Amino acid sequence: MKSCVVIGGGVIGHFSAYYLAKSGHQVTLVDESDLGDGCSYGNAGMVVPSHLVPIAQPGMISKGVRWMFNARSPFYIRPRLSKDLLVWCLKFYRSANEKHVQASIPALRDLSLYSKMLYKELAKQHADIAYREKGLLMLYQSQKVGEEEEQAAQIAKAAGLEVNTYDSDELKALESNLVVQAKGGIHYRSDAHLDPNRLMRVLKGQLKELKVKVISNCRVQNYEMNAGRLSKLITTQGDFAADEFIFCAGAWTAEILKQMGIRVSILPGKGYSFDVEKTTTSPSIPSILCEGKVAVTPLEETVRFAGTLELTHTRDTTVNHNRVKGILQTIQSFYPELPLPEIHHLNIWQGYRPCTPNGLPLISRTPKLKNVIVASGHGMMGLSLAPATGSLVDQLVREVKPEVNLGMFGGR
Ligand SMILES: Cc1cc2nc3c(=O)[nH]c(=O)nc-3n(C[C@H](O)[C@H](O)[C@H](O)COP(=O)(O)OP(=O)(O)OC[C@H]3O[C@@H](n4cnc5c(N)ncnc54)[C@H](O)[C@@H]3O)c2cc1C
Repeated sequence: MKSCVVIGGGVIGHFSAYYLAKSGHQVTLVDESDLGDGCSYGNAGMVVPSHLVPIAQPGMISKGVRWMFNARSPFYIRPRLSKDLLVWCLKFYRSANEKHVQASIPALRDLSLYSKMLYKELAKQHADIAYREKGLLMLYQSQKVGEEEEQAAQIAKAAGLEVNTYDSDELKALESNLVVQAKGGIHYRSDAHLDPNRLMRVLKGQLKELKVKVISNCRVQNYEMNAGRLSKLITTQGDFAADEFIFCAGAWTAEILKQMGIRVSILPGKGYSFDVEKTTTSPSIPSILCEGKVAVTPLEETVRFAGTLELTHTRDTTVNHNRVKGILQTIQSFYPELPLPEIHHLNIWQGYRPCTPNGLPLISRTPKLKNVIVASGHGMMGLSLAPATGSLVDQLVREVKPEVNLGMFGGR
């Protein structure tokens, strides 16, 4: 049995603490917030084995540049003089190639399917997380996007996923209570969804039962090293010594590790979501409205709409209303008869996706400090990959052969 300190109490930190404690380790979780909100709460709740191709892919740079000049587009880089941003962009450029995509597909598939299997197990004991297997519909309106989506579907099929292709009439039958303005859709049967707020509530309860010491309002400030190991973490609530330290601080991970001389490239990709009351004419199958990259998730009482990725810094807390208008415009164009509140009546949530430049998470020990594990940088798939990540963190701590090959998740 080892003593472990988990830094960061989002979905990755919670699942790490959960599996470590289940294995019998003595676990403390610290977080600088009051653990009431953050990226792990207002996200779209999608469990997405379909997302096999990392965001660093050929063609993404020219698409990104085009989106930069449209104030309502789903992507934006906040321009600023920053070495971290420059390094991130250079690494993205180096990763956006076919070789990286081909190497990432089996790695992401295995990680995703392992995660989904763990979610199914959790859902058997905790129906409250509202885990549902309705798949994911990628809806598109233009020929060009349809061709891109068809290509992605072929990749998913070749990787062994169950995928159906529908024309507009078949979509009508699938969403019979709703007018859907789409040329066609790809249905990934492999995908699922759940309610992120309920999930976090269940995980908090589990940590309590497993006697994990959870310390909120506790900010990591400094550290002490000894003989190639992290010996002490200095926080606003005292010092913590442990056998193992697991860094799961989401978009803040790079800033914390930098103090220890450990360089990882993770930037916040800010996104927004809002909930709208569910009615009989609401979408019933989780969907992505491809042209605007808007995620639509039917939760238990509401429908959640989410979108936008603004590559920014961790002090940028503004809501960009033009981007939210872009999300509303996309929804209106795909669901022309769906009643939506005015923008000023929306309760707009924002969160920072922890984005790595190669589009893959980091689940790895650091070469510099032997007892430091990084579990972060899950970008737009953090909820989806969280159980697998937590379980793999436990396997790294136990020094057993990991269930999933971690070769692609070392951040190189
Ligand atoms: C609009 C939107 C929609 C999304 N939809 C999906 C989806 O459908 N499916 C999916 O899989 N993913 C989705 N995501 C991504 C997902 O939400 C994230 O990948 C995930 O929540 C990241 O979890 P995390 O635990 O790594 O980070 P976080 O949840 O950000 O947790 C990090 C924690 O570290 C703490 N921390 C920071 N600094 C310190 C410090 N110095 N000391 C102590 N603690 C510190 C923070 O307080 C925070 O609680 C979406 C994201 C957005 C924004």
